[in-house]
Amino acid sequence: MRRKLAAGNWKMNGTSAALAELNTLASIHPTPDVDILICPPAPLLSRAANVTAQSQITIGGQDCHTAVSGAHTGDTSADMLLDAGATAVILGHSERREDHDERNEDVRAKARTAMNAGLVTVICLGESLAQREAANTLDIIAGQMSGSIPDQATGENLVIAYEPIWAIGTGMVPTLEQIAEVHDFIRVRLERRFGEGVGRSVRLLYGGSVKPSNAAEIFAVPNVDGALVGGASLKAADFSPIITALEQS
Ligand code: PEP
Repeated sequence: MRRKLAAGNWKMNGTSAALAELNTLASIHPTPDVDILICPPAPLLSRAANVTAQSQITIGGQDCHTAVSGAHTGDTSADMLLDAGATAVILGHSERREDHDERNEDVRAKARTAMNAGLVTVICLGESLAQREAANTLDIIAGQMSGSIPDQATGENLVIAYEPIWAIGTGMVPTLEQIAEVHDFIRVRLERRFGEGVGRSVRLLYGGSVKPSNAAEIFAVPNVDGALVGGASLKAADFSPIITALEQS
């Protein structure tokens, strides 16, 4: 059985004042039936980990470097994330692929380093609107999977987030059939590459404009094991109903 996961990506949002949202979330969900992961910006990581230490909420980073340490000004290593209290890291988010020109091989190298350090990696995949309109979605996903996911992936160290780029922060959401098609495709390819045991144990998240109003129907789609949520994860009042919908799915 795959344990469901509600993951929040705060992106470059939030200063110390935002930590109060974590307290609120923890008090609403003292014993959640699903895993809860919040990925705040790097400067908040250790304080977020302290705030959530007595709760069931875990903390993750939003990126890490391929190298273990060294002369990489402004970057963060996997060990630094762990040291700050993170247990996971988002890798290959489309905003990083676009803003920092990250290619599949960069994401794969980062994932290898993060897995070696003992972090759970949440690897993001997804097509652009032009790619979907050209009926290239599954080819793009296949290429991102083979290019970005390292061979050492297991059900414990890998989570995949399917995030159509055109659905991120836009309010546009694929149809439930489109989500099902991509998630089924990812599951089959994982089973083929890693074997049925590993392939069936990797959690597949949907991401892109998930809100309290659409969460339940998305969570009812087969092979959707949770969500990676951006905007609606910033406030406990928005994220909490998404967690509840996942618990009830
Ligand atoms: C994201 O950036 O991972 C995301 C899914 O954002 P939003 O929920 O705001 O669309």
